[in-house]
Amino acid sequence: MQNVVEFKQSKLRPIQWVTGMFVVIFHIMAVWALFTFSWANLAAGLIVWWIAGSWGIGMGYHRLLTHGGYKAPKWLEYFLTICGTLGLQSGSLQWVTTHRIHHAFTETDRDPHTPREGTFWAHMGWILKGTAQDQPEEMIKRYAPDLLKDKFHVISSKYFWVTSIVVGAVLFLIGGWSMVLWGIFLRQVFGWHSTWLVNSATHLWGTRRFDTHDDSRNNGLIAALTFGEGWHNNHHANPRSAKHGLTWYEFDPNWLQIRFLEKIGLIQKVHAYDLKKESQSVQAFRKAA
Ligand SMILES: [Zn+2]
Ligand SMILES: [Zn+2]
Repeated sequence: MQNVVEFKQSKLRPIQWVTGMFVVIFHIMAVWALFTFSWANLAAGLIVWWIAGSWGIGMGYHRLLTHGGYKAPKWLEYFLTICGTLGLQSGSLQWVTTHRIHHAFTETDRDPHTPREGTFWAHMGWILKGTAQDQPEEMIKRYAPDLLKDKFHVISSKYFWVTSIVVGAVLFLIGGWSMVLWGIFLRQVFGWHSTWLVNSATHLWGTRRFDTHDDSRNNGLIAALTFGEGWHNNHHANPRSAKHGLTWYEFDPNWLQIRFLEKIGLIQKVHAYDLKKESQSVQAFRKAA
């Protein structure tokens, strides 16, 4: 039968030894980085963190590629994708497939990382023994056919680790080994845990504005670590909206940058959930009923 894919229970999959080895090595290097502090190294870490975490993962992989929250010219889509590969969270094909499955089956046994199977599992267990970097072809065909049609996404997904080596080499030329420790290793470990907290913490702790069918929460601390991705209950309620922070106090740097790109005419068809308008129309509907 066409279009039917078999879901294997993530926990039954074999341990991802190679991924696990890299995760351990990066953590060791990150601790080493702490002994080589300099303001230049810190600046390098922050800049790469911004490019990989905000432009790449948040604005690129998540809000553009997964949810189509706005329409960008191809060159910008590709640029954001390249930035995303720098986050070392696999290529766009695998990331988008995994995340669309998360939205389609949140908190069920098909969700790749629900905390209902354990907090550690939702945080990083699923990376070490789950589906994360290892989506089979038929899953990608089913959940990311739009990206699979595009050769750029196919090739950049295969070689997603190359950008880290190139950026690492540039940092080495600028500031030596200690700058690589900060800009690649420490920044990477910080970026990983911040993203993983969206899967673990924002499905456990925080407030719920919307009564969604999942456990998603709005968590300001995680939002601060992830450029606005922590307003996760808002996001699960309105996945297509490129705007996750819905009030003035829900600070959402990814949205501010998307709004800026729209203002200067670089992107179009921006989907933005408007809390005021929606609640007014709900009230009007109730009055009329
Ligand atoms: Zn979620
Ligand atoms: Zn999402």
